[in-house]
Amino acid sequence: ASDCLAELDRHEPDLVMLDLMMPIVSGLDLCRLIRSSARWCELPLVAVTAWTDPEVRATAYRAGADDYLAKPLVEEELGARIVKRAQRASQDRDVRERDGLTDLLLRSPFLHRTEQLLAAARRRAASFCVAMVDIDHFKQVNDTHGHLVGDQVLAAVGRILRQGVRTEDFCARWGGEEFAIALVGSSTDQAQRVLHRLLDTVQAFGFNGAQNQIFHVSFSGGVACSETTPGNASTLIAQADQALYRAKAAGRQRILS
Ligand code: GH3
Ligand code: MG
Ligand code: MG
Repeated sequence: ASDCLAELDRHEPDLVMLDLMMPIVSGLDLCRLIRSSARWCELPLVAVTAWTDPEVRATAYRAGADDYLAKPLVEEELGARIVKRAQRASQDRDVRERDGLTDLLLRSPFLHRTEQLLAAARRRAASFCVAMVDIDHFKQVNDTHGHLVGDQVLAAVGRILRQGVRTEDFCARWGGEEFAIALVGSSTDQAQRVLHRLLDTVQAFGFNGAQNQIFHVSFSGGVACSETTPGNASTLIAQADQALYRAKAAGRQRILS
């Protein structure tokens, strides 16, 4: 049963369909377990069973199921009911977990996912890196071009970061003009290379200023790797943050680890 919650964390589903008659753990027990977890208590759960008995249905709802489908499953019904519900759940979750300006993860979901994947990496003796990134002299961008242009810079940098990492990697808007990146399976060297490439891309990007003049920005970055830093996600992030601080102190526009 605890494997089940770990699997949810790994796959992050938008909806779960469970057969009430499963071997080992019953579907009803699984419903209750998922509903009692802080992270997954809102997850749409659809119970499936060959029984059509109203009492069984009531029991499923009491255990926490949102919907109930009787076997045999009809494809049209699955499409209409399940896909729509999953889409809505996915949209709801984006609203809860993502920053509106950059569409990147917020701090707390980023931390949670990092915690999960770091633990998984440690179990498999695999490498896992975190990078903290902070735009250089961003206050000056706002002062020179206004907040609206500043916002455009944040959105564009967020997009460059997300598009510049692999699909299994993930990015957050850590706050203000600061971003966090998790690089799954990367060594320090690989992470450094990715960050340098991202810095090059950001610096090459021409932004439209308030008077339509083109301007450029840079960022500083700090990298920490699970191979050289023991401890949990917060330790890794703190380590990356210290490296970022040193990158700023050393003159900005650089990546340190
Ligand atoms: P440093 O190189 O040391 O990082 O200098 P900096 O100017 O980037 O850092 P500082 O912390 O002094 O300023 C950060 C600025 O970011 C100040 C704040 O107004 C701006 N900022 C934070 N969030 C937003 C936002 O959502 N939109 C805009 N336009 N500006 C923001
Ligand atoms: Mg800054
Ligand atoms: Mg900052």
